[in-house]
Amino acid sequence: QAINEQNKSYELYTPRLSSQARERLALESDLRMALNQGTQLELFYQPQIDLANGRMTGVESLIRWRHPLHGLLSPARFISLAEQSGLISPLGDWVLQTACLQGLSWERAGLPPITIAVNLSARQFNEPRLMATVQAVLEASGLDPHRLELELTESATMQDPEKTIAILRQLRELGIQVAIDDFGTGYSNFNYLKRFPVDKLKLDQSFVSELTADPDDLAISRAVIAMAHQLRLGVVAEGVETEGQLALLAAAGCDTIQGYYVGRPMPAVDLTQLLQNGVNLPPEKRRGYSRTL
Ligand code: C2E
Ligand code: MG
Ligand code: MG
Ligand code: MG
Repeated sequence: QAINEQNKSYELYTPRLSSQARERLALESDLRMALNQGTQLELFYQPQIDLANGRMTGVESLIRWRHPLHGLLSPARFISLAEQSGLISPLGDWVLQTACLQGLSWERAGLPPITIAVNLSARQFNEPRLMATVQAVLEASGLDPHRLELELTESATMQDPEKTIAILRQLRELGIQVAIDDFGTGYSNFNYLKRFPVDKLKLDQSFVSELTADPDDLAISRAVIAMAHQLRLGVVAEGVETEGQLALLAAAGCDTIQGYYVGRPMPAVDLTQLLQNGVNLPPEKRRGYSRTL
């Protein structure tokens, strides 16, 4: 009897598990092919607006995959798969190289200078070859290292904090900027934060999304901004979608905003257009504008 029941649940459970596993395997082999072929992957770029002058001062590069069957896939669908299968190394190389070449092409076109932010996954950051790769890509592309910004999550930096400090020093010696992504959602170890040589914190969008409705989120956002400034770090707010959120962030002294309110992630051609036309956030929406006038 007991054996029968076990068998039953085994039969019920296995097919679902294996179909999921099969789907994963298929996607993994598709990704491998996409990386070899090089035409299905694309970087989108999302504007970052400086609240001191209302101008676009940077972009974040965000990967997309034009899958021949499944359409445009967002990174949530394939980044963890890439990490687990080891494909994150070639994928990360491709992203870094594509972003640097795009940055150089904007620079060469005489467009206003912007920084190009690139996301590094935990595994990529902790690979021994990271420094060599970054240096090689910078040299091959010819992009000014000051234009490159690397985004790391707290979990990536906390795997081996002492090693992280050493790598961050080397990156910054090259002139590269470093931002802590999704700040406030990870370990937030202040002992290390004070020792990490980074340039910026990216306030996670989970604090921004309810900013106008939830006083606790406003309190956290203000505290993060104040702390960052005391530590001589800049703050980029992620996921800014409304004028109300922008107003509260500007009043709190936030340095930079990124989000649908100022622009969605877009193909390079569209970002080029935006750079040519110029973004100009009106003075009353910038930081430090006196609302008592
Ligand atoms: P992230 O680095 O925190 O990127 C911000 C995410 O928020 C992006 O999602 C962006 O499209 C989205 N976003 C921006 N503004 C808004 C907004 O106003 N509202 C809302 N609801 N969302 C907004 P995306 O492009 O789907 O990327 C998700 C995550 O995938 C990224 O989070 C990053 O961790 C990872 N990722 C993206 N590109 C790469 C890459 O090239 N390499 C690696 N390793 N990871 C990447
Ligand atoms: Mg990011
Ligand atoms: Mg983020
Ligand atoms: Mg995120």
